[in-house]
Amino acid sequence: PNKAKKGTTKQVENGTNVEGEEKEDKAAQSLLNKMIHTSLVNTTNQVEVLQRDPNSPLYSVKTFEELRLKDKLLKGVYDMGFNRPSKIQENALPMMLAEPPQNLIAQSQSGTGKTAAFVLAMLSHVDPTNKWTQCLCIAPTYELALQTGKVIEQMGKFYPEVKLAYAIRGNKLDRGAKLQEQIVIGTPGTVLDWCSKLKIINPKKISVFVLDEADVMIATQGHQDQSIRIQRMLPKECQMLLFSATFEDSVWKFAERVVPDPNIIKLKREEETLDTIKQYYVLCSDKEEKFTALCNIYGAITIAQAMIFCHTRRTAGWLAAELTKEGHVVALLSGEMTVEQRAAIIERFREGKEKVLVTTNVCSRGIDVEQVSVVINFDLPMDKDGNADNETYLHRIGRTGRFGKRGLAVNMIDSKHSMNILNQIEEHFNKKINKLDTDDLDEIE
Ligand code: ADP
Repeated sequence: PNKAKKGTTKQVENGTNVEGEEKEDKAAQSLLNKMIHTSLVNTTNQVEVLQRDPNSPLYSVKTFEELRLKDKLLKGVYDMGFNRPSKIQENALPMMLAEPPQNLIAQSQSGTGKTAAFVLAMLSHVDPTNKWTQCLCIAPTYELALQTGKVIEQMGKFYPEVKLAYAIRGNKLDRGAKLQEQIVIGTPGTVLDWCSKLKIINPKKISVFVLDEADVMIATQGHQDQSIRIQRMLPKECQMLLFSATFEDSVWKFAERVVPDPNIIKLKREEETLDTIKQYYVLCSDKEEKFTALCNIYGAITIAQAMIFCHTRRTAGWLAAELTKEGHVVALLSGEMTVEQRAAIIERFREGKEKVLVTTNVCSRGIDVEQVSVVINFDLPMDKDGNADNETYLHRIGRTGRFGKRGLAVNMIDSKHSMNILNQIEEHFNKKINKLDTDDLDEIE
């Protein structure tokens, strides 16, 4: 173990920090997920429902009609192209629309229909004849708030009496002015100001409170306290709803403070597996040799689409340039790009406009590109201590049962340290990764 540790430290010093390792930005990742999920994520997993009152009947709906929505809303839902409720909506919608209102904590991965669900709930609860704020929704960032606002506008398209205001920075209002918009979406800081200091929202008149992206929320300094301060100003009978893509202990603790007596809905992620993947490693001495090996692989087999992962922006940029020189049509995804730019690149890659996507670890997190046939770990995934990042490895390479096409994964090894990581990965998944001889590639096709 001592030896491994030494190698580790060196690698981190001469590799990542100097070249500028990407930092994880949860809010940006979440926004990216929203932008690239232009349709529902499919899942075959069952929803888990924990009712506050286990004796009350459990309602679930298979159609939007069953919800007895106002016609204007139903029209809005169908106009968005929704035919029937998503998995999570089947249970969440009847709960959120029940009388008396019920509180809800819901967790499911991005793209499963949470936003659409709570937007529909807010729009249903509003009384448009009352010209004051009745629904309050908080999101972690300005951009995420805008994104949700768009959904409210879209779904409420045929219900123009309902008005929406954005409580976001730069949206200055005079102290004491009374807001007439029935729905307010914003970030915690501004919403808190509007409710307390400026008093343009009367929190006592709020009947639905939504906290979206709880996991991202608590990752931002100060947001947790602000959210709780807002929640404390609301009346006891206000409906509290909280949503999150992930549910670590910290999120859970926070959720329980925000939502009293909750019903709970969870949707497990689709399990990923390495069973349908052929995994190999290639021994090289440095990054130039890794590049040569990569070219050999390309020369030998037909690759529909490949994703190539690098540890740093610099390596990713270099590799993309080298591959381009070789005549490949390459897309590069890297952390200095805006979320809009990244979303556009992912969209193009999905459409098959580029056949190779070079990306840094952090950038690619959470992106599922199902049709990719080959994954190359130009650098192996590791955590900040230089140990194998098994979870990321699985996420890059693993396929869900549903899209379980056979795939090929190649790991490039150029040091003792990376060999060590490979061994850790083999051990963790209890699966042997075979050596590939790039001068003789007959075996892989
Ligand atoms: P989440 O909030 O869980 O990330 P969204 O509500 O944003 O999920 O939904 C993801 C995508 O699926 C969006 O493009 C949304 O318009 C679409 N969508 C949501 N609900 C449905 C539905 N019932 N039928 C079809 N598409 C839906």
